[in-house]
This record gives sequence, C-alpha cells and structure tokens, in this order.
Amino acid sequence: MSLLKRLTIMKFGGSCLRSPESFSQIINVINKYVSEDPEQQLIFVVSALSGITDLLLNSARAASRQEDPEGYLLEIIRKHEETIEKVIPEKFQIAVKDFLEDNISSIRAMIDDIKEFEISPFKIDQIISKGEMLSTFLLTKYLEGNKFKVKYVPATDFLVTDSVYNDALPLLDITCQKINAKVKPLIEDGVIPVVTGFLARNIEGHVTTLGRGGTDFTATILAHCLKNDENLVKVILWKDVDGVLTTHPDIAPNARLIEHLSYSEAKEFAYFGAKLINPKCITPIQKQGIVVELRNFEDLTKTRYTVVEEKPDTTLSVKGITFFKEVAMISAISAATVSQPGVLAKLFDLMGKNNINVSFVSQSSSEINTTFVVDKKNGENAMRLLKEDTFFSKWFQISVEDVGLIAIIGEGFNQPGILGRVFSALTNIQILAISQASGGINISILVPKKDLTAAILAIHEEFIG
Ligand code: ASP
Ligand code: MG
Repeated sequence: MSLLKRLTIMKFGGSCLRSPESFSQIINVINKYVSEDPEQQLIFVVSALSGITDLLLNSARAASRQEDPEGYLLEIIRKHEETIEKVIPEKFQIAVKDFLEDNISSIRAMIDDIKEFEISPFKIDQIISKGEMLSTFLLTKYLEGNKFKVKYVPATDFLVTDSVYNDALPLLDITCQKINAKVKPLIEDGVIPVVTGFLARNIEGHVTTLGRGGTDFTATILAHCLKNDENLVKVILWKDVDGVLTTHPDIAPNARLIEHLSYSEAKEFAYFGAKLINPKCITPIQKQGIVVELRNFEDLTKTRYTVVEEKPDTTLSVKGITFFKEVAMISAISAATVSQPGVLAKLFDLMGKNNINVSFVSQSSSEINTTFVVDKKNGENAMRLLKEDTFFSKWFQISVEDVGLIAIIGEGFNQPGILGRVFSALTNIQILAISQASGGINISILVPKKDLTAAILAIHEEFIG
C-alpha cells in the first residue's frame, strides 16, 4: 500500500478505442508513464466507443416517433462485437459478450417503455449511459487480459449529482467523500481504476449524465476530489491532434499549436465548437490550480502539446480564433419600447421556454436594435415565435439571416490597441454585429457567410502570422 502521491487522471475518448493498435497504444501509455516514474499512480476515465452515444440517442428518438430503432441497435452491437473480437483475449471474450448482451437487453426494455409511454430525459439517460459502461468494461477486460492490475469502476459508485437529467451537475461534497472512500484505496493498492465517464447517479439512485462530452468533467471531478496539499494531481486528455490550434488548419494552413492556455481561455476555446475540451471540466480544478494537458494519443513522444494552467503569459494578445460557419442571426428592431424595462427579459424568456439556446447578444445603447444568435436549425422557429407573440409582433420588426460567427480569444485582449488591430484587419469585410463582455477575453463578430474564411485569415495573419 502506498499513499497517494503523484496521480495522473487520463481521459480516453472514442478515438483512443478504435482499433487493436489504439488499444495497444493504451498499454504503451501505461508503460511510458510508469517507467518514467515508478511512483506514478493512474486513473483511467473512458468515454463511449466513437459514435455510440449518438446511435443510442437515435434509437431512443426513433422509438419515441414509433419508428423501428432496430437498425441503430444492430449497429451498436456490431461495433462492440467487432472490437471485442479484435482486441479482447479469448479467455475474457465470453464475459465481455455477456456484459454486452445484458446491457443491450436493458436498452431494449427501456426502448419498449418509450414506445409504450413516452420519451423523457430520465429514460434518455438510462439509455445513453450504456455507451460508457460498455466501452469501460471492455477496456478493463482488455487490460486485465494483458496482466495489468485494473478494476472496472462505474461512476454510479461515487458520482452523485442533482436530478437534471441529461445535464446534471455534481454534488461535490458527497461525491468527494465517496471518491475518497471507494476510489482512493484502489489507487493506494496499486490498482488502476478504470472509470466510466459521462454518467453518474442522483440521490434517488437513478442514472444521470453530465451533458455531451461529459467524460472530461468526470476526469476533473476526480482530480478535484483527490487533490490535497501534499500530492500532485494532473489530468491528461488524450486527443487525436497535438492539442489546441490557433484556428482550424483547413481555413488557415499555417495554424499553430497553442502551448499554453489559461483556464479562462480554455473555456472560451471549448465554447466555440472546437470540441477539444469541455468547458464545464475547468470549473472543479481551477481554484486548486490542477494542470490539464491535451496530448496527441497517436504519438507519445511529442514534446509539444497544450497545457492548461494559470500562469502569467504576456506573449500573445490573441491566442486563437474559433468560429461557427453558419448560425442564425436574429434582429429585433423597435423604437417604441425604448427605455421600457423588461423587454429583454420577455425576449429571452420566450427563447428559453422554447428550449432555444442563445449564444451571442448585442444591443445598441439606444435600445432600438437587439441582435442575437441561435443555432441555424432554430433560426426560423425563433423568428416565428417572435412574430406570433402579441407583444413582439405589435412593436417589433423581426428578421433572421444565416451568418458566420468568429470568436477571437486571448487573455491579453484588454490591452489598448488590440480592438483597433481587429478592425483594421477586417477593413474589407462587412461586420454585422459585435459582442465583447466587460473584461472579456472573447470578442465575437458576425460577418456574412461568404466572408467568414477571409475574415478568419485576416485576423490570423494580423495576430498570429
Ligand atoms: N459519450 C458522451 C458523448 O458523446 C460523453 C463523452 O464523449 O464525453 O457526449
Ligand atoms: Mg464522445
């Protein structure tokens, strides 16, 4: 038994569980880390095989429309069976196949329930949580078959959340108690706990999930609870790229790796579609200063990667540019309601009640024009809601247009002159709307769709080169 001293919590996503080569790469990871530091202790947090969560969701939705979900289920079974046959040692294949069969039976039972009654966030969580259970059990057996001391740990053993199904938040006190009682002793016994990402339980004991991409969150909740004054705890998110880039290389071929991001910058990169890191996962570790690394899983020898931590960094005023190629920009214009309190509350309440997420807001100080952005798929619906609303239809002129959204991100943004450089870089581009929060490190700009690439290139050229 050795006390917890140096712990690395590693998240393996679907792209790390693809082929026999990627499974053996996980063994290479263990060997590398343990050979470099024999006192290194590890926890693995695993997300579903790639595409499985979507297939599970599709099967639930098909059932709710009284369509046949069988095609989706067969695809889920096929993907797992194929992986089991390719990677799991003979001796363990039956155990993993039985596990698959049992879980598929409970998915089917839940799907019948949806068909008979109706779909609900509770039932969705019962179904989509299966992806992580299957992948994690599979990886555990793979490692066990290769003689590693590992243990399958379903996060329902320790991660307790509120009851917001599909997007639950952890109850940290009780979760930390459980992690210290159930996970820590395993590590101290030299076992690698192999933990299901994404899923949890509420106090009633029902399965919940932490929102899409929630496995990163599971990893940092573990880190938060296991960190104390004496030990070193770090999180590694294994990726199929070197780390976070200054922008998408398809748009700017000279996009570069960003080697350092502050916690706030990392959250901004996550929000705008980069999908490399879940913004929620930063919150539990930020105060304790726990470091997160984004590293390339394909090549363990890479010495350059992205480190997320708080340290003074004055080198770059702009770290990078993220974007959405197409979003719906809605403008609500009225002079009649100027100075009337509560208008914005009405507007966003209408969106919120109809489950439409707003990702950008800008209002002129005259209060005449309010512009906001919703997902492209919600644009028409948002406009219809406003046009059908008695208040807005009477006093407002409403329009919707598909536009491009660019977010320029960097902690140094508050220095004078930066905004001037942004505008001069965009001289030849029509800027439709802008939003920057006070003290903000993200300036979001709406431009015509056709100008999106040119705008990104111009800003990249100006600040990053
Ligand atoms: N499998 C879940 C998803 O696809 C969670 C995760 O990947 O982190 O959203
Ligand atoms: Mg995933």
